[in-house]
Amino acid sequence: MPAKVVVVGSLNMDLVTRASRLPKGGETLIGESFSVVSGGKGANQAVAAARLGAQVSMIGCVGRDAYGDALRAALLAEQIDCQAVSTVDGSSGVALIVVDDNSQNSIVIVPGANGALTADQLKRFDPVLQAADLLICQLEVPDATVGHALKRGRELGKIVILNPAPASRALPAHWYGSIDYLIPNESEAAALSGVAVDSLDTAQAAATKLIAMGAGKVIITLGAQGSLFADGNSFQHFPAPSVKAVDTTAAGDTFVGGFAAALAAGKGEAEAIRFGQVAAALSVTRAGAQPSIPALSDVQAFQAP
Ligand code: ADP
Repeated sequence: MPAKVVVVGSLNMDLVTRASRLPKGGETLIGESFSVVSGGKGANQAVAAARLGAQVSMIGCVGRDAYGDALRAALLAEQIDCQAVSTVDGSSGVALIVVDDNSQNSIVIVPGANGALTADQLKRFDPVLQAADLLICQLEVPDATVGHALKRGRELGKIVILNPAPASRALPAHWYGSIDYLIPNESEAAALSGVAVDSLDTAQAAATKLIAMGAGKVIITLGAQGSLFADGNSFQHFPAPSVKAVDTTAAGDTFVGGFAAALAAGKGEAEAIRFGQVAAALSVTRAGAQPSIPALSDVQAFQAP
């Protein structure tokens, strides 16, 4: 039986425009290309966990529009259970993304239907939480919903993972005690801990603070530098596999989904981190968010001696 992962989070349609440079205020530019790609941190992490071996259920909301239908279809195509993905009035979540020739981007996210995933809505889907081995949350749905999911996950004895993304401020203090694995990137770790993170030493200082605030264990992802694991007793640095980076979109989402799938399948923490890192490294060698997430067989082929 594959391990069961439940993701409580966002689904967004990414509307991606490429232009030679980013437009200034009031300026109209002619772009070079346009594509519509399924995304949202919740959905990306669900797709990653599913491609990387877990049986996944998604809890979220889409709008009553063409994007909503497409977002749901993209998850169903990955054999993700969408019985707890509700269709609500109004628009789906969208991310309007402009990428320039230097790979700089500017992004406007409209949460739309993601804002309709309330704590009450989550209570209706409690059996989906009960059936899971492991729960993953991010911060693209309302705080009250995330808070309820973390608390309920802990009450039910599930493995609880929070990827605090996007984060620009402190988390509610009472959340920390429900989190088994807190997985921020450098800027999120800094926002949560108040410690600027730009090296292994500062990552250790931030992780120490986050554990003192109540998080069980902390994994700070460090881009091409890999990640730092802290469990309150010791630290371990996991260097990232060296690859030619093409597009780092969804690297963090792929790491979180891969780590979660491996951990839920009973792997040890170190093995699950290495597995997530190989998956994330493969994702940065390909363009796009969900399209760049590798399959289990790709990771196994990379890891084969
Ligand atoms: P986010 O995408 O959330 O900002 P990071 O940039 O820290 O997160 O990347 C998450 C993980 O993806 C890293 O811990 C690492 O394992 C992997 N990764 C990211 N960039 C690279 C890269 N250039 N080469 C290899 N692995 C990478």
